Amino acid sequence: MSVLFRNGLVLTMDNHHTVLRDADVLVVDDKIAEIGTALTAPEGAVEIDATGGIVMPGMIDTHRHMWQTAMRGYGADWTLTQYFVWYYLESGKRFRPEDVYAGNLLGAIEALDAGVTTTVDWSHGLQTIDHADAAVDALEAVPGRFVLAYGNIQQGPWQWSAAPEFRDFVNRRLHGKGDMLGFQMAFDVTGDPAFPEKAAFEVARELGAPVTTHAGVWGATNDDGIRLMHENGFMTPQSIYVHAATLTRDSYNRIAATGGSVSVSTESEQSAGQGYPPTWQLRHHDIPVSLSMDTSVWWSGDLFSAMRSTLGADRSREHMEAHRNAETVTHCHLRAEQVVDWATMGGARALGLDSVVGSLEPGKKADIVLIKNDHSPVMFPVLHPYGHVAFQAQRGDVDTVVVNGRIVKRGGRLVDVDLAAARAAIGRTVDYLVGDMGEEAWAKGMNPDVPETKVTDNPYTYTDYDAGSAQWKH
Ligand SMILES: [Zn+2]
Repeated sequence: MSVLFRNGLVLTMDNHHTVLRDADVLVVDDKIAEIGTALTAPEGAVEIDATGGIVMPGMIDTHRHMWQTAMRGYGADWTLTQYFVWYYLESGKRFRPEDVYAGNLLGAIEALDAGVTTTVDWSHGLQTIDHADAAVDALEAVPGRFVLAYGNIQQGPWQWSAAPEFRDFVNRRLHGKGDMLGFQMAFDVTGDPAFPEKAAFEVARELGAPVTTHAGVWGATNDDGIRLMHENGFMTPQSIYVHAATLTRDSYNRIAATGGSVSVSTESEQSAGQGYPPTWQLRHHDIPVSLSMDTSVWWSGDLFSAMRSTLGADRSREHMEAHRNAETVTHCHLRAEQVVDWATMGGARALGLDSVVGSLEPGKKADIVLIKNDHSPVMFPVLHPYGHVAFQAQRGDVDTVVVNGRIVKRGGRLVDVDLAAARAAIGRTVDYLVGDMGEEAWAKGMNPDVPETKVTDNPYTYTDYDAGSAQWKH
């Protein structure tokens, strides 16, 4: 099977960030065979006209709680407090294996649709091995590249990682899956001086599983967790620190010195309150970055919005810091090109897949996205290709997606994906959750109280509009 992208603007994301105009990309079987101009199509090749479009590597999301996709948008007005209460304390344990399956299935489909060809399923709802089997069943039902980051918020990591059935599961479902289904262990380090998480780190080391951990989360994890990991020798180049927003320079130094990377979820950090999106700090410590969406309980799972919000947050902070010193930023440090790199090679490096995916180079696995939309007034002119990807394009402009040489989206439509089955599974989960919680608790969970807004005294009188109640006074 061969696929030939014809005549596109190709962002290779190779080490030189080579950009080719009017170029072709040839895929043979599961690999990129050739990139150049006027390539000869092998017999039977599927030719895709990329004229006017941008051909780039499939994007990589290094932290997404896919099981939560069944609750899409439910937490739109949540902070981290409501998220913790709902998932960790009150309702997370309601999820049955079939609910994890439904969320993972929809999350996996959603990722492909948005051109995210590799997704880390930060799966911390695995209360039983049946839940874990359901999670993997869903990932294997969708033709994307995934990493199962195994976790369970209902137990300490030293508990679930010690269970013989956990090891059995890893052997049975995750070993030998190659680069289509990877394995990490997902747990947080609370900072308890007794460091009970040590046992889980030892299991991870024994199993060769990288650890991904929510670090530097305001009110939850802090410098103590980083220090304990460091002092006990568990910070490695494979470690992924999610958010890493509320940390001091000492922790960033420890991360930089041990070669790990940070998964930045800008939209999450902005709304939920883990801390200010940290790229403006990470740049100063030369810490590698990848991007992530965290959970569709707030926002949709695509990396266009992650790139856009990350650029905005970084620049916003840079301006604000300068204004505080009565200075003006005349040149932005963070460039669109950099966030496109973070969304592709940054993720590949973080996952140790940089020799496999993340860039368009002959010999690499063919994970490719064509951004093209002839019906959109936003798809021309394409003057600044990286800026176009980060600030102009969106999910609806993803025309074609190839994963491991297989076309999974074409002409803006998913291929061989049973969206109706996913819709039905999600419907059953939502019906079950509403029934189990009761209508009132369901509605209350979605609508947290709004704190009162104190309107500043104003010596001027001009309008009769009361901003506090958002109403006209008469
Ligand atoms: Zn998370």
